[in-house]
Amino acid sequence: MDFRISGDMLEARRLLPPDAGGYQLTELRILQPCPVCGSQYTAYVRQVPTRRTNREIPLYSCLDCQSFWNPSGYREDEAQLRRDLQWNLSVRDRNTEAANTLFDRLSHEGIAPRSVAEIGCGIGTLLNVARDRGMEIVGHDVNAVAIEHAKTEFGLALSSALWTAETPTPPVDLYLCIMVLEHMEDPGLLLRELCKAAMAQQAALFVSVPFLNRKKWHFILEPDPMTAGTPFFDNDVHVTHFSKKGMIAAFDRFGCAGAKPFSGGLWNGVLWQPTSEATKSDSATRLSWLKWPWKRNAEAQARS
Ligand SMILES: [Zn+2]
Repeated sequence: MDFRISGDMLEARRLLPPDAGGYQLTELRILQPCPVCGSQYTAYVRQVPTRRTNREIPLYSCLDCQSFWNPSGYREDEAQLRRDLQWNLSVRDRNTEAANTLFDRLSHEGIAPRSVAEIGCGIGTLLNVARDRGMEIVGHDVNAVAIEHAKTEFGLALSSALWTAETPTPPVDLYLCIMVLEHMEDPGLLLRELCKAAMAQQAALFVSVPFLNRKKWHFILEPDPMTAGTPFFDNDVHVTHFSKKGMIAAFDRFGCAGAKPFSGGLWNGVLWQPTSEATKSDSATRLSWLKWPWKRNAEAQARS
């Protein structure tokens, strides 16, 4: 028996099921804070099967916000990035319709952006819709294969550089992050940057993830990584399972207080709007976008 064990470790062992073997103990180490709301009040739940790597990996839960997470360590290779591109293309019609619905519903809320930035934009289906609706657009996605396709096939000037709030961006009225954070083991890193950027630019922020649904609670007993629409579907890549409560708490934690659940149609999420009256003037916005080198490059490229 090792008596130098830390208090956290003791706590972690106490929360393990009585028959947990050495395998789970080495997997577990120390209970981590909730990746969604940051609470330390977390617990090990069980092992869950995965689809792509056919393993059993640990599932944890937050006793404060009721989010779940199953960190998988899975990383996509080049071949998988190409399959992701094909998937993006296969849902392009559906996402075009969903994007129009989202902008219609935002407009009902009084959000009629002149410019929009999407972080995790894939092949830019939503941004294509935004551009058709007269908005200036900025898009980032770490999948360089998807970004290249967006450039060559759809003429969208998007970037595959890793985005942070420090990335130079012209004035934007709306930040979007759709179906991205559930793929991240530490979604707080990106959400913090989104909140920081939205507050700095006095822009609205809409973040959409597939929220946990209590009606599907029985899947905790029979986790099914093979069936779409169930809470642990394809959980090599869907690693953080958000509750609405947790997402709102996360917005709060990063300074965007007062965010509300928002139904965007296909994409449900949480919406934050700046309360300040300090809105950007039309002329200042136009001037900044004219000076934007990335856009100028894209226009020059389009002309040549
Ligand atoms: Zn939590």
